[in-house]
Amino acid sequence: MFKGVLVDKGDGGLVAEVRDLNESDLPDGDVTVAIHYSGINYKDALAVTGAGKIIRSFPMVPGIDLVGVVESSDNVRFEPGDKVILNGWGIGESHWGGLAQKARVKSEWLVPLPDQLSLEEAIAIGTAGYTAMLSVLALERQGVTPESGDIAVTGANGGVGSVATAVLSKLGYSVTAVTGRPEEWEYLQDLGAAEVVDRNDFAGAGKPLQRERWAGAIDAAGGHTLVNIVATTKYRGVVTACGLADSMDFPGNMAPFILRGVTLVGIDSVMCPREDRLEAWERLARDLDLEKLGTIAKTISLNDVLSASSDLLNGKIQGRVVVDVNDV
Ligand code: NDP
Repeated sequence: MFKGVLVDKGDGGLVAEVRDLNESDLPDGDVTVAIHYSGINYKDALAVTGAGKIIRSFPMVPGIDLVGVVESSDNVRFEPGDKVILNGWGIGESHWGGLAQKARVKSEWLVPLPDQLSLEEAIAIGTAGYTAMLSVLALERQGVTPESGDIAVTGANGGVGSVATAVLSKLGYSVTAVTGRPEEWEYLQDLGAAEVVDRNDFAGAGKPLQRERWAGAIDAAGGHTLVNIVATTKYRGVVTACGLADSMDFPGNMAPFILRGVTLVGIDSVMCPREDRLEAWERLARDLDLEKLGTIAKTISLNDVLSASSDLLNGKIQGRVVVDVNDV
């Protein structure tokens, strides 16, 4: 037996609770992992609270992230004792995920923990931080350098935004943090933001072309926020889009693309190929000031997952939430 959060259908909607689970109920896979930590990403908060249709089969252990130690393996690539990271690939959605003390998964989903990182640091980064790094890599691949100009980061107080701000500033970029919580400027400046602006300036419909401000942007909001960020991006600038904290809509105009040559790059962390994941984790180990993770992440117990998920959806959480699954 082991403990985990289980989400199931109840009479009045979804019910999420910490339960005793049987190892025999674990799904198929060739590696069993003793989980040390999971986290609460935006998607997990939607899954746990039932606010979004994330879970595709019930009952489900949520949690799109896990880090832990291999307990047993039928694959030569991993052996007991190996420290591993897993982000996405459908865990917590269609395959039991990380918010439990044990998981059985496919070996090809696992990334070995980079030598420079501890399990605590890896989960403090989590899917949010790995997605932030995929976004930074996309800017680099499109030729954006620190000399190109300022970079805007939306949802700056969130998980993706916090890590993106920290990584970009360490790489020498000048970051403008776009946030609904401008009073948190001290936190954002500690992460490395050069400027903090109010996200209200980007909410609602704006002109198709606005004053050119950024050479690049990392957007976690979507909706009007993304459209206005694109409209304020400089000639031949690059915007990455990974999130929908504002909206899934893209109520935009073609002008920035065909008159300013702006590039919009979509970022997906879930099905991202293994080589890109390995590169992202290697770069995170190198290009993130690990001391900043102490500011970015706070740790909670398995019992606190439900309340922390509601807080996250209500915009009350800053940075990343780490779940110590053995604290129950
Ligand atoms: P968080 O909840 O940690 O952060 C989201 C942040 O967005 C909030 O902290 C807030 O920051 C900002 N925000 C909230 N509401 C609005 C709004 N109405 N308009 C503009 N900004 C808003 O989530 P994560 O950082 O974990 O994820 C961010 C987004 O990225 C989510 O939509 C998530 O689903 C998506 N995502 C996508 C991935 C992919 O593979 N494509 C992977 C990981 C995440 P502030 O208070 O500073 O404004």
